[in-house]
Order: sequence, then structure tokens, then C-alpha cells
Amino acid sequence: MSESLPIITLGDSTLRQQAVEVQNVHDARIQKLIDDLITTATNANGVGIAAPQVAESVQLFIVASRPNPRYPHAPEMQPTAMINPKIVAHSTEIVKGWEGCLSVPGLRGLVPRYQTIQVEYTDRDGKLQTLELTDFVARIFQHEYDHLNGIVFLDRVESNLDIVTEAEYQKNVVPNT
Ligand code: ZN
Repeated sequence: MSESLPIITLGDSTLRQQAVEVQNVHDARIQKLIDDLITTATNANGVGIAAPQVAESVQLFIVASRPNPRYPHAPEMQPTAMINPKIVAHSTEIVKGWEGCLSVPGLRGLVPRYQTIQVEYTDRDGKLQTLELTDFVARIFQHEYDHLNGIVFLDRVESNLDIVTEAEYQKNVVPNT
């Protein structure tokens, strides 16, 4: 059975560490961690979660875009585990969009990201996958990828004026998007 794991928040030093590569995707502990991360993200209305957010400093995250109360306009997709991921190419075009983070509760920030990225990762069956991602899903990937390098979205916000509370975001930003 998968379980919902406690999420660590800003200030916990694990969030600032470089995560280590997963050596064996088929390891039962890694497979259990994948199931637990999917459950944790779903229960918390997250569209993605990275292993360091549950204090496991390994290169693994889940992308699980779907519409939910925190992201009403998110596209629907199957939760996907991405292991030892890499960005192999990216567009020159950069777009700003609102992000939040389960490890930074109560805040949203306007974050610049590449609009399109080509990525490579190992899936949970051990197969190497290559994908092109655009817009919101590309944004999720870049956000989660940052977690593997000890970076949180606030580090990429260009001005403190681009940070708002979750309450103001729901009240003022969502109705206008
Ligand atoms: Zn995050």
C-alpha cells in the first residue's frame, strides 16, 4: 500500500542539497517511493513533487498535471515518475507563469521558465525516455528539476513584487486567468 509522506518545508537543509542519481530503478525502495510520492502529490493537490521534498535526496520526481483547486487550469495527464532527468535542449523563448510549491506553503510567485524543453529521463520500468514538453507541463518539469539541484521557485522570481500569498492568488489572479 502506498502512503502519504510528510512534506518538508523551506528551511529544512535537505531542500538545498544536490540529489544523488538513482542507481537501480528496480530497487523495491525506489518503487515504493514512487508510489508514495504519487499518493502524496495527489492528496496535497500538487501537480508535481520531487523526492527531496519528502527528505529523500535522490534524482526522482513525479509530474502529475491535472486540474485541481490549487491549479484549476492544469492539463490532465497520468502521474509520471521521472528518474535521473536531464534537460537536453530548450527554446530561447522564456515565459513567466505563477508557481507554488508544497514546500513553500502559502506563497505564489511569478517565475520565468523556458517555454519548450527536450528532456530525457529513465521511467519506472528502467526505460530511457525522451520527450518534448511545452508550457505548463514544461514548467512543472523545470520546477521539479530545480528541487534536485537544491533550488526553489522563490530563487528564480525576479522581484519581490512578483510574490503574493495563496489567498490573494486565489482571489485576484485565478479569476483573471
Ligand atoms: Zn516545489
